Amino acid sequence: MSISSELISKEYEFGATNYKPMPVVLSRGKGAKVWDVEGKEYYDFLSAYSAVNQGHCHPKIVAALKNQVDNLCLTSRAFHNDQLPICQEFICKTFGYEKVLLMNSGAEGMESAVKIARKWAYTKKGIAKNEAVILVAERNFHGRTVGAISASTDSKAEEYFGPLVPGFQKIPFGALEAVEDGLRNANVCAVMVEPIQGEAGIYIPEEGYLKGIQSLCKKHNVLFIADEVQTGLGRTGKLLTCHYEQVKPDILILGKALSGGFYPVSAILADTEVMGVLKPGDHGSTFGGNPLASAVAMAALKVILEEDLPQKSYASGQIFRQEMQDLVAHSPLIEKVRGKGLLNALVINEIQGASTGMDFCMALKDNGLLAKPTRRNIIRFAPPLVISENQLREACSIIKKTAQEFYRGERI
Ligand code: PLP
Repeated sequence: MSISSELISKEYEFGATNYKPMPVVLSRGKGAKVWDVEGKEYYDFLSAYSAVNQGHCHPKIVAALKNQVDNLCLTSRAFHNDQLPICQEFICKTFGYEKVLLMNSGAEGMESAVKIARKWAYTKKGIAKNEAVILVAERNFHGRTVGAISASTDSKAEEYFGPLVPGFQKIPFGALEAVEDGLRNANVCAVMVEPIQGEAGIYIPEEGYLKGIQSLCKKHNVLFIADEVQTGLGRTGKLLTCHYEQVKPDILILGKALSGGFYPVSAILADTEVMGVLKPGDHGSTFGGNPLASAVAMAALKVILEEDLPQKSYASGQIFRQEMQDLVAHSPLIEKVRGKGLLNALVINEIQGASTGMDFCMALKDNGLLAKPTRRNIIRFAPPLVISENQLREACSIIKKTAQEFYRGERI
């Protein structure tokens, strides 16, 4: 039995089966590449769902983490620590907000935003107690907590995990008329969207959608919440996807790459008028804003800025889509490519025999590239933003070669 097989069996024996990982066991990562326990090298085209924008084990983040580990890791927020205020100032100034709240996971970011919006609804907007509604988009993904799945249109949520949290009204994604319609309900206190729907399969709304939401929210005195947990921090070719439309949401949710993949750190940003509704005891987390997380987040954010990763992502995205257009034109297997920056999707034409996105990903794995479908026939390609042009082109040839093998019938 190989080491991989042994570890995989152990994981299935002792672990909850809430994931079905690809059968590859990774033990090392550097930049855009990872290695499995048998030493096979792969391009990582998932980047831990965009948490590793800075590349695996970025030396500057490693150094910050090692330095802080030796000094102080966790105090809880019962006491002040010497890293949090510096981190808070840095994050606020970087994104142009007056206040930040540090939490851990992206889902907690969403939960925090919902709590802030609800309290704002009752204390500032004058909505009657327990009546606040948040407009959310169909097909959204905001995480796995009860709140997040209650806001989702995932059929499993209702089937297995009810009773769900009330107060979310679902509207089609990408349609401003639907937002306008929803806002007729005077109990709406916020509109929450992902600027690009990542988990759903990289759905990009038409230009003007975010700006439209912002102005409708202003008109109706409602908060605009942007969940940039996946799309933020350079992933789509700008520091924030909202920057494509010069939009500043009232509440911005960040996560994932805010720590470069070293540690769970999420952040909720807002101005004082909104964030100020939170009073001591309203919200918190033992680990949120701890000194280790703060030191890591500062280093991770500095890497994004100093290495101009948003611009790099923008340029690499153009190359990637150009290469993939070539594939769309020549391979009946690939229906289309879409994306922004280095958040891209390849849509597999399932008419090609029995092949699915997962079959294609397994073949990519054999050829040295790791990716996973977001939906049955939609594969997300999101490599670390530090990937060099040579590496990117090499990875594109792996994708092309694999598609050719499929087409010639070697895989189906
Ligand atoms: N929000 C968005 C847009 C996401 O894509 C994700 C995760 O994929 C989350 C929230 C949840 O983040 P986490 O898995 O850290 O809870």
